[in-house]
Amino acid sequence: MTVLRKNLIDGEWLGEAGSRNINPSNTNDVVGEYASAGPEEAKQAIAAAKAAFPAWSRSGPLARHAVLKKTSDEIMARKDEIGRSLAREEGKTLAEGVGETIRAAQLFDFFAGETLRLSGEMVPSVRPGVGVEMTREGVGVVGIITPWNFPIAIPAWKIAPALAYGNTIVFKPAELVPESAWTIVDILHRAGLPKGVLNLVMGKGSVVGQAMLDSPDVNAISFTGSVGTGKRVAAASVEHMRKFQLEMGGKNPLVVLDDADLGTAVDCAVNGAYFSTGQRCTASSRLIVTEAIHDRFVDAIKERLDKLVIGDALDAKTQIGPVVDQTQLKQDEDYIAVGRQEGAELAFGGDRLERETPGFYLQPALFVGSTNAMRISREEIFGPVANVIRVNDYDEALAVANDTPFGLTSGICTTSLKHATHFKRNSEAGMVMVNLPTAGVDFHVPFGGRKGSSYGPREQGRYAMEFYTTVKTAYTFAG
Ligand code: NAD
Repeated sequence: MTVLRKNLIDGEWLGEAGSRNINPSNTNDVVGEYASAGPEEAKQAIAAAKAAFPAWSRSGPLARHAVLKKTSDEIMARKDEIGRSLAREEGKTLAEGVGETIRAAQLFDFFAGETLRLSGEMVPSVRPGVGVEMTREGVGVVGIITPWNFPIAIPAWKIAPALAYGNTIVFKPAELVPESAWTIVDILHRAGLPKGVLNLVMGKGSVVGQAMLDSPDVNAISFTGSVGTGKRVAAASVEHMRKFQLEMGGKNPLVVLDDADLGTAVDCAVNGAYFSTGQRCTASSRLIVTEAIHDRFVDAIKERLDKLVIGDALDAKTQIGPVVDQTQLKQDEDYIAVGRQEGAELAFGGDRLERETPGFYLQPALFVGSTNAMRISREEIFGPVANVIRVNDYDEALAVANDTPFGLTSGICTTSLKHATHFKRNSEAGMVMVNLPTAGVDFHVPFGGRKGSSYGPREQGRYAMEFYTTVKTAYTFAG
């Protein structure tokens, strides 16, 4: 029998009616049952966060440090259990689930440290006898809205800085991954957060999320998800004159030049395009390859894809888990059909796979002979599907890499210092990788993109302070 996981509102676990969550590796396996909040509960959560803000924003660094550090320690101590549960509900492999859980612990640890490093500036005024102080204060009630593909890391990289800088939170996780969201909130709650400081409202985006967008009492919204929802967040936030931050899709290029080390290029492409079942905003979905290495690269990548073990996320041998759900699987298959209709050649994979248990298994798909004008090159598929675009030289590769409405990450595989340096400078992406997969980032440095991928200040590292604080300039005349 499954226990209903409830929402946390003003320090109380509340909720009756719930919805069941299914394991994508085995659709007969019910992961759990989760309360589904309505607009009234969202309003209560916002009111609780508003009431808790004055005291929490004035709490000393030690109180915040204690909660964040304790949370980090518990997540780390339970990494195998939490990582397994994450893999069960999202479908990424056990290794990826545990790795993501460790990342969450590291994020809480980093921002625990940041509470002790808060600082301001003091300068003399242009008026003699007057001092000027510049300090940072929490913004107020922060709405945190997250997607399903990083069920614990993305909530962690938003919740940790929001709390560290003295904000209170209404957290609305994606419907597909409530267990990871509930777990992180349960740990923070038991770590000693005062009531109302962190509220969890699981439920539908169109209901709970929309109630957050429509509330004048939500002072800032940090959103990660699709471009379509991001635009709704933006429009509603402008209406309420609130701060907002958007992290959205990608169509990230990986350039492979003739002088690249073939092994490195294939490692980067297979990892970047297909690991986590291609369901990463940083996935290398466009592989832009120059003439002389093209055929060797395509042969080597096909050979590697043929050896990948696709199966149940909870099987330690699995390298690629299932797609997250039926809707995403249909989207992936539809795009594979679109690629064929557009005239690209499906060089590998793309078929549904049968495994011991019923699940959303898809063979990684590789297109060759594609152009950058095709829909499969321009629209985010968000699955284990990549396409190779053949180009003549570095200049054409750079032009094709930048010819996209997105700009999250980009990568280049080359042994040329000249080209690597030029690419780092001229790639129109927020994060650039040289001889590394486009996916895979550090937790202590800024994360974010350009163009249609991101809007607003960067997330993570010390740069997170920009979004989660507001600056105050105070003048004092001491007489
Ligand atoms: P989504 O936009 O469907 O949902 C994201 C969140 O928004 C969910 O919690 C959802 O319930 C909520 N939501 C939906 N409608 C809403 C509304 N009207 N008001 C308020 N909230 C609402 O995205 P998804 O399918 O969960 O995630 C996949 C997308 O996320 C992909 O496009 C991917 O590229 C992107 N993503 C981006 C990054 C990044 O950092 N750039 C990281 C991970 C995922």
